[in-house]
Amino acid sequence: MSDLSESLRLHKTVKKHYMSLAKGAECQVTYVWIDNAGENLQCKTRILNKEPTGIKDIPEWTTVWAIGHHFSEVTLVPVRMFRDPFTLDPDKLVLCEVLDSNHVPKESNQRSQSAKVMEEVREFQPWFGMEQEYTLFGLDGKPFGWPPQGCPRRAHCAVGINKVYGRDICICHCRACLYAGVKICGTNAEALASQWEFQVGPCEGIEMGDHLWMARYILHRVCEDFGVVASFDAQPIEGNTATSGCHINFSTKEMRSEGGLQYIEEAIKRLSKRHSQHLRVYDSHNGADNMRRLNNQSTTSDFHYFSTAVSSRAVSVRIPGHVSQMGCGYFEDRRPAANCDPYLVMRALVETCLLETPEENDDDVGKIMAS
Ligand code: ADP
Ligand code: MN
Ligand code: MN
Ligand code: MN
Repeated sequence: MSDLSESLRLHKTVKKHYMSLAKGAECQVTYVWIDNAGENLQCKTRILNKEPTGIKDIPEWTTVWAIGHHFSEVTLVPVRMFRDPFTLDPDKLVLCEVLDSNHVPKESNQRSQSAKVMEEVREFQPWFGMEQEYTLFGLDGKPFGWPPQGCPRRAHCAVGINKVYGRDICICHCRACLYAGVKICGTNAEALASQWEFQVGPCEGIEMGDHLWMARYILHRVCEDFGVVASFDAQPIEGNTATSGCHINFSTKEMRSEGGLQYIEEAIKRLSKRHSQHLRVYDSHNGADNMRRLNNQSTTSDFHYFSTAVSSRAVSVRIPGHVSQMGCGYFEDRRPAANCDPYLVMRALVETCLLETPEENDDDVGKIMAS
């Protein structure tokens, strides 16, 4: 472990010289996309001979797509451009959709369908904000900074070197997101030492998923620089009940306006009839991760039942206290796990709350447990 981290540090010092070399008009554009598991990110960089002024100036590109031992070719279609906080202006990071050779979205490409649904509900002006929790690990696979005897103590929003590990990563990630143009809006230390959270939003429509995925990419890159690994696992530490979530906050124009609380309550009522359908897409393993995570302990709700309340953190869906007092604002769905695909989560929310009318007793958690 120490040999590897030594060489990583040396590497970063030497890098400064090369980064200071004069550069021409060329621009490094890093294409970022979601892999075939729909969970991890991949990237590769190409040089354009001048700075792109927008997404339309960035050409499609192909790449190899490996599923087991089977290799095929896919097309990367640029959809949203950010500034590159690692190699700086004029370089870009560009989030891409993945299409097959016939220009049909790959199965893992949930953005395509989600964007269509967001178009359908455009007049509602749907806003989202997501709270991404993550846990840091050393290169040895152990939780970053933990003493051999295990986690010192649970420490939500804690301060002090004996309680939180890796604050530099949280701070640097935030600065990198701001530079990039990712709509990060806050950070905090989480319940475990070396567990952190950042928030993105409010974002309108499909922007939410794009910004969250790019924030995740930037986190992985910042962690490369520090020689640690970020995990979005819903239950990151074996044998420890601590969990990581990705709460989603949601509002429409009506919910944000005077008297909006009635629309919030109506949406929550609809959600209560679709509990299992939502859990199926709220983590990256069809509900299996949340079956362990939503265990009624430490600010999580019960996997088997939908619950809601004002100000409570032990429920599926919470109305923040200030929203209840103001009579308008937004609500928070606390069920998505840290490894969820935001495109799926936001789509499920608008389909249930704004588009489809759930039947009475539409819900059946038994089904999800059996599948
Ligand atoms: P919590 O109290 O649950 O920890 P945070 O402060 O961590 O909440 O996160 C609040 C989230 O709510 C942020 O992502 C923010 O962008 C989002 N948010 C704020 N206002 C709205 C709104 N009107 N509609 C949707 N999301 C919102
Ligand atoms: Mn939060
Ligand atoms: Mn949190
Ligand atoms: Mn929250």
